[in-house]
Amino acid sequence: RAVYPLLNPTPDALMPRRVVDVLVPVALDQTYSYSVPEGLDLTVGDVVTVPLAAREVTAVVWAENPNPDPRLHNRLKDISGKLDVPPLREELRRFVDWVSTYTLASRGMVARMTLRMGEHLGPERVRLGVRLVGAPPARMTAARARVLDLLSDGLLRPKSEAAKEAGVSVSVIEGLVDEGTLTVEPMPREKPMQPPDPAFAEPDFSPEQSAAAAEMHALAQKDDFAVALLDGVTGSGKTEVYFEAVAEIIRKGRQALILMPEIALTGQFLDRFSQRFGVRPIEWHSELTPRTRARNWLAVANGEAQIVVGARSALFLPYADLGLIVVDEEHDQAYKQSDGAHYHARDMAVVRGHIAKIPVVLSSATPSVETEVNARTGRYTRIALPSRFGGQHMPQIEAIDLRREGPPRGRFISPPLAEAVKFAVERREQALLFLNRRGYAPLTLCRACGHRFSCNICDAWLVDHRFRQRLVCHHCGFSMPRPHQCPQCGAEESLAAIGPGVERLQEEVANLFPEARTMVLSSDLITDIETMRSELNEIAEGRVDIIIGTQLVAKGHNFPRLNLVGVVDADLGLGNGDPRAAERTFQLLNQVIGRAGREQGRGVGYLQTHQPEHPVMKALVASDRKAFYDSEIEARERAAYPPFGRLAALIIAAANRPDAEGFARKLVGLAPREERVIVLGPAEAPLAVIKGRHRFRILVKSQRVFDLSGYLRTWLAAAPKTKGSLTLEVDIDPQSF
Ligand code: ADP
Ligand code: ZN
Repeated sequence: RAVYPLLNPTPDALMPRRVVDVLVPVALDQTYSYSVPEGLDLTVGDVVTVPLAAREVTAVVWAENPNPDPRLHNRLKDISGKLDVPPLREELRRFVDWVSTYTLASRGMVARMTLRMGEHLGPERVRLGVRLVGAPPARMTAARARVLDLLSDGLLRPKSEAAKEAGVSVSVIEGLVDEGTLTVEPMPREKPMQPPDPAFAEPDFSPEQSAAAAEMHALAQKDDFAVALLDGVTGSGKTEVYFEAVAEIIRKGRQALILMPEIALTGQFLDRFSQRFGVRPIEWHSELTPRTRARNWLAVANGEAQIVVGARSALFLPYADLGLIVVDEEHDQAYKQSDGAHYHARDMAVVRGHIAKIPVVLSSATPSVETEVNARTGRYTRIALPSRFGGQHMPQIEAIDLRREGPPRGRFISPPLAEAVKFAVERREQALLFLNRRGYAPLTLCRACGHRFSCNICDAWLVDHRFRQRLVCHHCGFSMPRPHQCPQCGAEESLAAIGPGVERLQEEVANLFPEARTMVLSSDLITDIETMRSELNEIAEGRVDIIIGTQLVAKGHNFPRLNLVGVVDADLGLGNGDPRAAERTFQLLNQVIGRAGREQGRGVGYLQTHQPEHPVMKALVASDRKAFYDSEIEARERAAYPPFGRLAALIIAAANRPDAEGFARKLVGLAPREERVIVLGPAEAPLAVIKGRHRFRILVKSQRVFDLSGYLRTWLAAAPKTKGSLTLEVDIDPQSF
């Protein structure tokens, strides 16, 4: 019999109080019960603040708790307050639950992605402004004169800005207010966001685009789940075409999310959006200021923001009425998040679309093998754009066999490529040299004793960065000044740079083409998004002759005068034994060469390679995309790799190797028997040591139709807890395997 274990029941304790279960944004699955203070009007989904240990955290009411444990009854803490924002919709709460169940990331961690609205939420602070109204003050000073001069136009200015602009302290302004020379008035609220106009500038479509646009339109009209693959070659105008679906969503008054792999690179995209719809969309990514973040979060939640352009985390925003998701460049690696929660934003976009019963558009010139298979089997509808807009031809691609036509020792641009660049520059066209390697050289070696500079805490060479004059570890960020002497044998002048990075390539370009204007684009040389955007503009405006870049330049840009792309090391991504290497190389090279010849003239791509007979090179040279996918799909099917089987990786790391290996072995020993599953390993992870942590990997492979997440959950529930420096991460659908 349940009896209240209370010796002195107080009236308060006997009063049935309302209890709710709250999800807090910490790495836990469970919810916590809190009591609802009288008079607080709460519904499930409300965003609240609650006391947690010694802190106050923002959390979400996840469920009513009609039968709270009576023993807790009198000990529950109260909800402290409710934020003035719309409650999170059931659709989003189900999505959070789903992602957590599927990825094995804790529910609290997933919820945290939804609650990243920053501290600045709440009623907008009223800012005070000052305006010149009265007679000049009796006592005049130089500082006062500057303020009067600034405000002589009679306009209202924020107090602090007026002080800053006039170069005076706020007290000078306040003195003038006291004397009646200035008045203080509240600044008007920030303008509400202007809605995008679907008819602002409708494009003239080519017949091919018209057909695809009509399909987009029909898709967006359905209020139901469906996935379309917008499969168009580089320069076919995929953006203009999926804008038709976006336009339809705007007409319906609903919201659309456009996911982009690399938000820093979307400057041109934002311009195109405003040219088409008359206003800029809302952005969502990690570089927003806290104030903008809060404003955008709220605008999404209350439906004021109709279109969101965002990085993968934008999937977790609390849309008031999401009607469409577009995943641009759906094959891109950057969609995979691999810290905290491991998830693939493209796959989760499809899940979110399914839960919300809305259409999803995946756009790419080189779809992932998974998506291509889904399109072939009819699970996704393919909407094709097989030719370029404006009658432009696809670039012609040639291989340069480095075994026969390679550059002299210590140089990296072969004579035929150098010749082609020379012609391009002479014709006042642009050339792009692509090398997916940051820095000057990937390895520094002592010619006297053979010493190689490597990171002390990672299993990696230190990369020579000459612009920064440092050797840098690309895995942990460790860096040291470039040495002039070998630390091992003491020899001077003996250190040699081995292999090229973009900085070294620029040196070679400067020697070959001293007259040309060059620019290096590499993520480590970018200080902020605005600099990046302005550099890309300089290229687009033709103020650069030769662009030297890493994969940053491959993505999405339109450079009207670029007709030549030279891939300096086409084999770079192929040699690492990863089954996805061929697919990735094919996608990347296709994309970077796809920058050429988009607006005038014929684009040409050169692939410098040691293996021109490799299927990737052959498919590129023959422009035979189908052949590549055919053979790649067949290989995946033979090995039962995704999407024909399922994969998960368990990554075990520890401060020392025996701990990591021992735990990994114990874990494998505990794997539940299941004939539809194969457990491989443990083996050293592809990067065996990162930041001083030794890493082992267990690969779990299952049949396609199998609840792999459930299997892993059962397995890990029986495993010992990780202690000390040990960590265990689950990566469902790993991108390299
Ligand atoms: P993709 O993403 O398929 O590589 P984009 O959408 O970037 O191609 O389009 C390539 C170029 O063609 C862009 O400069 C775009 O503005 C232009 N373009 C595409 N379709 C049209 C159209 N119907 N009218 C005018 N310009 C177009
Ligand atoms: Zn390191």
